[in-house]
Amino acid sequence: MSFPSSPIASGPVSRRTSRRVTIAHGAHEVFVGGGAPVLVQSMTNTDTADAIGTAIQIKELARAGSEIVRLTVDTPAAAASVAAIREQLDRMGVDVPLVGDFHYNGHTLLTDYPDCAQALSKYRINPGNVGKGAKRDTQFAKMIDVACRYDKPVRIGVNWGSLDQDLLARIMDENAVRAEPWPAQAVMYEALVTSAIENAQRAEELGLAGDKIILSCKVSGVQDLIAVYRELARRCDYPLHLGLTEAGMGSKGIVASTAALSILLQEGIGDTIRISLTPEPGGDRTKEVVVGQEILQTMGLRKFTPMVIACPGCGRTTSTVFQDLADKIQTYLRDQMPSWKAVYPGVEGMNVAVMGCIVNGPGESKHANIGISLPGTGESPAAPVFIDGEKKMTLRGEYIAEEFRAIVLDYVKTHYGNVVVAQ
Ligand code: SF4
Repeated sequence: MSFPSSPIASGPVSRRTSRRVTIAHGAHEVFVGGGAPVLVQSMTNTDTADAIGTAIQIKELARAGSEIVRLTVDTPAAAASVAAIREQLDRMGVDVPLVGDFHYNGHTLLTDYPDCAQALSKYRINPGNVGKGAKRDTQFAKMIDVACRYDKPVRIGVNWGSLDQDLLARIMDENAVRAEPWPAQAVMYEALVTSAIENAQRAEELGLAGDKIILSCKVSGVQDLIAVYRELARRCDYPLHLGLTEAGMGSKGIVASTAALSILLQEGIGDTIRISLTPEPGGDRTKEVVVGQEILQTMGLRKFTPMVIACPGCGRTTSTVFQDLADKIQTYLRDQMPSWKAVYPGVEGMNVAVMGCIVNGPGESKHANIGISLPGTGESPAAPVFIDGEKKMTLRGEYIAEEFRAIVLDYVKTHYGNVVVAQ
């Protein structure tokens, strides 16, 4: 056995080099690409014509950590509502940039509703849903003209569920005359990538600056997404928005999105992400924000909220006490973050361990900023608490959860609290 010739490395490969796009609402700016941190986006599922309901959901998404929020603009009533949504958010002190999602009639809505065009911070154009035949070019040009007039960036967002059929037919014709035609799957990939890049080039020809364009090519299969984005990344230097479209519900949606996005992110590909989860009936829309943040944070790419390290439990645990404690602490930490991040800078990097027994409990707890090792079966009913690697105290009795939470809060105040808040 011998050491390798160089240290074992970890972390993603270097980020892909791309242009930087600025998305602004007033003085609030976020940056996409050009080495900026990968951003988490989300999308509303309210009726945009319901200005109050949509503003409330956007506020919830922003509070959960969404850095850009997209909303459907599909009807005159929706377009007429956008400025009111923006004003309502501004009144509530929510400065998250809004992106309008346009299909079929975006050229009309953006032209007929200048307040909407102005209130939005970015437009998403699906080149497969801009129009057919001769109308397509003029309607696309109208939308780009509005973007230029209002100085707004645009995402050229291709989706294989709505791929430009004329372009697909052209790519298929070109393939048919190849000496060795490509398989259908490769033709589809090529059509997706070509659609994104050709429309971006067309937008530049129409006068939109190259640093106002973001691309995406969403598909619903993990291997398809990886293949398409690798090629897209190779062929252009526009920033890329990543997302597995129609990822699905529950654990399937989370696992599929994580599998696809983490491989691309590890390769340095991707500047914004959205997790397209189908909510459970009555479910919380902010889940897609939490999952997006957790992908980035567990990969070590961003820090959003203190992480709880918890063991899965096993036959050594006879109760659900440690599961309850891990859940309570995780919920507590996430709930506190909107206010903590303003007054306790750096707290988002804190690690808290909640472990079920002596086997890995003390060891894992010592690696965390704060850790607690609960007693497993047959152990004395005592829970040692470790702070910065040292055992500091032992908790006993029925109020362990409350006492541990107080210890965590004290740690936060003493280690991160140095910002004075005006009363
Ligand atoms: S730390 Fe203890 S309770 Fe938790 S999984 Fe390991 S052996 Fe089981």
